[in-house]
Amino acid sequence: PAADGAPDLPAPDAADLPAVDAAVERARAAFVPDLGLEARLDRLRRLEDLVRENRAELEAALRADLGKPPAEAWLTELGFTLEEVAGIRKELAAWMAPARVRVPLSLAPARARVEHQPLGTVLVIAPWNYPVQLVLSPLAGALAAGNTVVVKPSEVSATVSRVLAGLLERYLGDCVSVVEGGVPETTRLLEHRFDHVFYTGNGKVARVVAAAAARHLTPVTLELGGKSPVWVDGSADLSTAARRIVWGKFLNAGQTCVAPDHVLGTPETLAALEPELVRAVEELYGADPRRSDSYGRIVTGRHLARLTRVLEQVRPEDVVCGGSADPADRYLAPTVVRSAPDGPFMAEEVFGPVLPLVPVASAEAAVEMITAADKPLALYVFTEEESVKDLFRRRTSSGGLSFNAPLLHLSVPELPFGGVGESGTGAYHGKHSFVVFSHVRAVMDKPLAPDTLRMVYPPYTGLRARL
Ligand code: NAD
Repeated sequence: PAADGAPDLPAPDAADLPAVDAAVERARAAFVPDLGLEARLDRLRRLEDLVRENRAELEAALRADLGKPPAEAWLTELGFTLEEVAGIRKELAAWMAPARVRVPLSLAPARARVEHQPLGTVLVIAPWNYPVQLVLSPLAGALAAGNTVVVKPSEVSATVSRVLAGLLERYLGDCVSVVEGGVPETTRLLEHRFDHVFYTGNGKVARVVAAAAARHLTPVTLELGGKSPVWVDGSADLSTAARRIVWGKFLNAGQTCVAPDHVLGTPETLAALEPELVRAVEELYGADPRRSDSYGRIVTGRHLARLTRVLEQVRPEDVVCGGSADPADRYLAPTVVRSAPDGPFMAEEVFGPVLPLVPVASAEAAVEMITAADKPLALYVFTEEESVKDLFRRRTSSGGLSFNAPLLHLSVPELPFGGVGESGTGAYHGKHSFVVFSHVRAVMDKPLAPDTLRMVYPPYTGLRARL
């Protein structure tokens, strides 16, 4: 099973594999190698229309799959995507323009420039946790770069998958094909030759995707996850830090790839942080979060069962708050637990609403622990000390590093969003999305006359003396 539990998969014989092949063929046939700015802008506008005109239906689908509150759906998926697309539209002409680069004097006269070309037909495979954003945001980059696209939404968020399939066909059917389904369909898809594969999900499946792509020498972007640690020290305002950590953690019921996974701090800091976290949970979600209309649900019963199984291994006296679950409602309370560095929730990415607090001796010890583990997708440091910021900046590696606020770095279009090592390969957002789906081509133009190359042609008599 995947890191967060295997989804319920359709029986292999239910898969319509010829339809998969047809979807790929359709996208490939629709590719135009020199698609101009206006046509690309038109596609991006249609993508915006898709979101704007179907806001209610998309929000309802997100509510059905993840119990996502509409405001949260807007902030983190629909509105987020619209901002992203608008930003890309605004800059696209500039990004598409060939960029002159300097030619060394020894090669003069000549001109050199960098041009961005579409790759061709690309595949976007998305997960279930932000099932709209993680389809549409890469899609925006792929379309901006002039590609045609095959999209494979996650079968786990089945309602969103169905809704997106219909809408993408209606709004962008001339350049986007959607393949719905699970392992059989994706396996078939990956037998085809794509010009790029953009995969978001867990590291185990990423290996399957990368291996399949390697057979065609197809480049891949792998947007993965892992444990994103938080360091908090006594110099930080613990009440604000707690509120921000609680917000970042329990958004989407903890099912966020860059959610704070666990908190590292000295025993004294964690003792002082505990009541602040409890207070923040109540402030954000009320005394009974189950009744809060601002709190989401776990995506499937199987994903919930994985979390409750781990939770059963936590001693009751280590539960700081939360801990209750209701499978009928796919509910798991916002939960804070005390944990040893090798505690039950420390074996893999939590990916749910459970926040382990892990005591360490010092910031240096936290750095040691972080560098001994897989490189995280995000690292969060709550401190007012510049020297501590510096310590984490210089001595750790992670996809992103953010001081005193979780998640926000994703919303800065000029910051690349991606992992390193186990947390992924490649990055996107803003211009990075355009570049990742483009071939960056070197173009050189040297006049035939005068033939200055005569200086380097054989025979080399006399050339060595000049070198
Ligand atoms: P998932 O189960 O929806 O799987 C992701 C995609 O892989 C789906 O489309 C699925 O159909 C496909 N898939 C599953 N098994 C496959 C197989 N054997 N062969 C080919 N394709 C297959 O989602 P998930 O992987 O559980 O997603 C959660 C993980 O994704 C977490 O680790 C999370 O941190 C990470 N994530 C990362 C980002 C990011 O941007 N870096 C964003 C969201 C989630």
